[in-house]
Amino acid sequence: MRSRSKDLFDRAQNVLPAGVNSPVRAFQAVGGDPIVIKSGNSIYINDQDGNQYLDFMGSWGPLILGHSNPVIIDSIKEAASLGTSFGAPCEPEIILAEEVVSSYPGIEQVRFVSSGTEAVMSAIRLARGTTKRDLIVKFSGCYHGHVDSLLVSAGSGLATFSKPSSEGIPDNYTDLTRVLELDNEESLTELFLNEGADIAAVIIEPIPANNGLLVQRKEFIKLLKELCEKYGTILIFDEVITGFRIGKGGAASYYNIEPDIATFGKVIGGGLPVGAFASSKEIMKNLAPTGGVYQAGTLSGNPVAMSAGLATLRHLKNENVWDYLDDLGRYLENSVNSIKSKAPFGLYFSRVGSIFWLALHTNTQPRSSESIDERSAKTFSGLFHALLENGISIAPSAYEVGFLSSEHTKEHIDFFSEKLEKIFTSCSFNKNSGEINVF
Ligand SMILES: *Cc1c(COP(=O)(O)O)cnc(C)c1O
Repeated sequence: MRSRSKDLFDRAQNVLPAGVNSPVRAFQAVGGDPIVIKSGNSIYINDQDGNQYLDFMGSWGPLILGHSNPVIIDSIKEAASLGTSFGAPCEPEIILAEEVVSSYPGIEQVRFVSSGTEAVMSAIRLARGTTKRDLIVKFSGCYHGHVDSLLVSAGSGLATFSKPSSEGIPDNYTDLTRVLELDNEESLTELFLNEGADIAAVIIEPIPANNGLLVQRKEFIKLLKELCEKYGTILIFDEVITGFRIGKGGAASYYNIEPDIATFGKVIGGGLPVGAFASSKEIMKNLAPTGGVYQAGTLSGNPVAMSAGLATLRHLKNENVWDYLDDLGRYLENSVNSIKSKAPFGLYFSRVGSIFWLALHTNTQPRSSESIDERSAKTFSGLFHALLENGISIAPSAYEVGFLSSEHTKEHIDFFSEKLEKIFTSCSFNKNSGEINVF
């Protein structure tokens, strides 16, 4: 029964476009009505009708310590009792900056903003201002927030020409953006040969996690680093998902390759709106007020959000949460691998630390968005609704990853695997359309 959820969502559709404040929440990829959430507690979310779901979405990544973790809630209460925003320097932003700088390799300074999008937008501007060049490069299958110049899709041909992937963006906003395929050394090398001297920055999710989990080969990231160095191009690692999620050094430590600028979001705010971009002092000095690259924010570095981020990072470090999460992730990987032969379709379990993704209709790791089977969305929507009926919440799209939190245990993983196995063995599968029906 979800009648109260339904009533509320009907009202939402009247006053919020499609009833939501961020598109994927509307369930359009999977069909049906979204659930209106009343509360979250540890690994559970509770809807407005009193139903409880074991949650693997973690608010799309930030909640690495689970829902309403007392460690974070207490820090928020304490900070808020002293004032929510001053628009002036405050101690929590300084301590959080020290924490970030000492955690992530190769960076000396950080500036806080209020979202991942804002972090990326500012990093691009800083890279252009620093290099005095205009071209930027991104990879298809990587998401960097809704920055105009990055909402592009590749045009025809091996690489390069791009067009806006959203309405409302003039063509010439994306004329200076080149789009490349992931996992493709040839097109990367060719682009640098042709235009390297004009490229201000290459931005990449080094472990792409917004179009499935497209783990890259280290050689590819290494070549990218070498080409950027050779041509004086700034390498931006967008670590909004991976930063402080897979370890204190993010994907930079995972590959042992350092970017020139890193962007953060999600985990760094402990569930409050925080983004950040970080680099060397030499590059950061180009930012206003010392440099000519303008960037500002009314609520940037506010003490409440900074305290939530700080409580999160300290807890992650002090309790060795990353090791726990990697072990738990491996346990989940083994569990799913032990039942996947029962699925009537191919399944590859992709994972880095506590980030996981069920790649459908394949038995190998997809490394580019082009290599994802087209039937995935259809199959996924059946799987999604069956899991929901079994009390499990995952993100409502075949292309979104799942997240473990410090509050998940092996029992929760067992519950998930049992339900998954039950669905696999009791569904019918249409090989051509990809549709599954669960009985
Ligand atoms: C979520 C995300 C963003 C955008 O962050 P918002 O806080 O939603 O604006 C940017 N880059 C990556 C890699 C992300 O996962």
